[in-house]
Formats: sequence, C-alpha cells, structure tokens
Amino acid sequence: MSEAEPKRHLWRPYTQMRTAPEPLEAVRTQGSRIVLADGRELVDGIASWWTAVHGYNHPHIAQAVADQLARMPHVMFGGLTHAPAERLAARLADLLPGDLDHVFLSDSGSVAVEVALKMAAQLWLNRGVAGRSRVLAFRDGYHGDTMGAMSVCDPEEGMHRRFGRYLPEQVFCDLPRSEAATAALDAALSRHGKELCAVIVEPLVQGAGGMRMHPPEVLASVARLAKRHGLPLICDEIFTGFGRTGTLFACEQAGIVPDILCLSKALTGGTMALAATVATTEIFSAFLSDDPGAALMHGPTFMANPLACAAAEASLDLFAREPRLAQARAIADRLAAGLAPLRGRPGIADVRVLGAIGAVQFESPPDLADLKARLLAHGVWVRPFGDVLYLTPALTIGAADLDRLIAAVVAEAA
Ligand SMILES: *Cc1c(COP(=O)(O)O)cnc(C)c1O
Repeated sequence: MSEAEPKRHLWRPYTQMRTAPEPLEAVRTQGSRIVLADGRELVDGIASWWTAVHGYNHPHIAQAVADQLARMPHVMFGGLTHAPAERLAARLADLLPGDLDHVFLSDSGSVAVEVALKMAAQLWLNRGVAGRSRVLAFRDGYHGDTMGAMSVCDPEEGMHRRFGRYLPEQVFCDLPRSEAATAALDAALSRHGKELCAVIVEPLVQGAGGMRMHPPEVLASVARLAKRHGLPLICDEIFTGFGRTGTLFACEQAGIVPDILCLSKALTGGTMALAATVATTEIFSAFLSDDPGAALMHGPTFMANPLACAAAEASLDLFAREPRLAQARAIADRLAAGLAPLRGRPGIADVRVLGAIGAVQFESPPDLADLKARLLAHGVWVRPFGDVLYLTPALTIGAADLDRLIAAVVAEAA
C-alpha cells in the first residue's frame, strides 16, 4: 500500500469509506484514557460503547484472562463444559432478580437478542401453538445489527427503511408514557395477540435510539400489559446491565422480573466479546421434552469462550468488591449538576441524566463532523450521534477527568 493510498483493507462500521476521515489510531489504554499513536491522550467519555465499566486494563481482569489463557483458551461447548462457564452462569443467576436462572452464552449483543427472539418463537411451538411469530417492540428502540435484531429496532430509522423487505414484519408501539399510549399498547396487544410471541423492551433507557429515558412506572406498565396478554417479556439490558443506571440491572428499579433478559456490553468489563440470554424457569421448562426437536436450536462456535467467561467472572468480582453502584450514583449527581447550565439554552431541546448516563439533545441535528472535531480539541473522546451528545464514562472515572468531559460538552453544546 502506497503512502498516498488510503487504508482500504479494513471496512469500517457505519462509515462511508469514500469520504470519511481516517480514524485515529489508538495504541494504549489506561484507566479512563486512550493514548493515540501521535502521543495524544484522550479522556474517554463513552467507555468504548459503554463496555469498560471498570476503566481500561483493570489488573484483576487481566490476570484472570492471563491465567485462563495459560490453562485453556477455548474448547467447544457442544458435549463439553468447563468451570468458567459453570461458575459464571451460577453467579449471573444469583445476581439477576427472580428465577432468571438459565443462561445461554453467546458472543455478541445482537446474537443474544437473536437467541431471545428464537427462544420466544420456539416457546410457542413447543407449547403446540402455531402462528405466533411476531414480536411487539417499541419506537426509538435499538436491539442490534443482525436481521432479527434489526427487525425489532425503531421502524423509522435508516436501516429499516433500507432493509425493510428483508426483515420480518413486527408490531411497533410507543412506550406507554401516557394514559393514551398505555391504552394504545393494550389495544395493539389485543389486536395482534394471536400472532405475537413476545414483547421486547430496553428497560429505562433506549440507548442507541437516542439515549431516551423513561421512568420505572413505564417499564412496569409494559411488564403488566405483557403479562395480562400472556406474552413473555424480553428485557434487553445489553446497554443498561451492570450498573449503568445506578442499579446492577435496570429492571430492578421497576421491581419487575422479565421472562428473558439479554446481557453483553459491560459483561466482561469491556475486555472480551461475550453475551448472555437468560431465561426464567418457566421459559426453560418449555424446552424440556422427550422430543429432541424441542431443544433450543442454537449454538455459536465460540459460545461460552473460557477467556471471556474468566473476564466476566473477574468483572463480577469487582462489582462485589468495589463500590461500582455508588460510583454510578455519584457520577449521576455530578452529571446532573454539570450539565444543568445547558438546560433552556437556545438550540438545546433536552438535558437528561440517569445513573452514569448524561445526554444532551439538540433541537436539530448538529454538524457531527465539526462537533466531533471540536470535542477532540478538548482532549476528550465523545461521539455524538443524530441529535444527541452523551457521556457514559467508566464507573471508575476520576472527578477531574469527569469534570473535563462535562466542561467539553458544555462548551461545545452551548
Ligand atoms: C449494543 C446493543 C445491542 C447489540 O449488541 P452488539 O454487541 O453490538 O451486537 C443490542 N441491544 C442493545 C440495547 C444495545 O445497546
């Protein structure tokens, strides 16, 4: 490759390869900092897509992965099992509310959602009920980039418009934030009742759909209506899981127990690809049968990768030993105070905070390339999208670094 030629071998995510600027080259991470090849050190405001909750390079996770690497980096999961997966599943079951006790491990959030959708569809087939193949999902939701997951993402969003005819057709409603919306959801559940196999929701925060937050009562309404109509509720906690909203899992704040729950992003503390789809005993039991065909029909090659399980276990150790939830709540207070001056400013539609998530919404989408460049000049790594500029730092971020992030956002959003 010649010097003049742009780097063309890596096809980058959501990137127009003809016009996009070259990405920055990261060479090292530490704590809440990303070090670039040119020597710049950036304060990370988004914890690598919300994954690195303990900051980067936590020695406890590094040691656990190194130990596991020396023992057994990977082994197939068909017909074999291993202690890291057994222990992780038991610990997740212990931490999750209710009897969410049955853990299916996979390798990315989108796949965890695919598995949840498949579980819901097969659940009805196993019960001998045909024709229930659609899912009720919510506008502004985001559940992943694979086809099944895309089908339950917001229907107006770009990918749907482009790929509509490739996707199974689902039923969409607004979150029941008002009496009218609650009645509309109830009506949709009645109207489509016999063709639906599940309801899927992101509890408390719709993340990639715009960092839109809803109070626990709204989530409780969703759970109540799903139950009233006899439908399993899937909570996609891929973004919210592991302390991000101030509790270990967001659904705890509404006092609900979903039938199926998806985890990924922060599961390994931002170190390895791993995801989990966790089901209650009632769901799991529907797959117990003398018929081999009633078994859950899924099995990714790298499922339950021992290195990733070891990293996840180490991450859970840190949640047990260190005050992550208190740290998340302290970040919430600092974000709320720091971002408050933006409220009511011209061009700012909304400022909202929940746990370690602070979001500033503009009245109309800003020039994102320009905004990104201006933020970078503050020495911070923040990635606005659409009409939203948000901070989701590591839960371990120091006060000075957090203040630098807030100052950059306040300076450039105003
Ligand atoms: C990121 C995300 C996904 C998809 O996870 P990937 O690991 O990117 O496939 C699904 N649901 C939610 C809520 C997410 O935030």
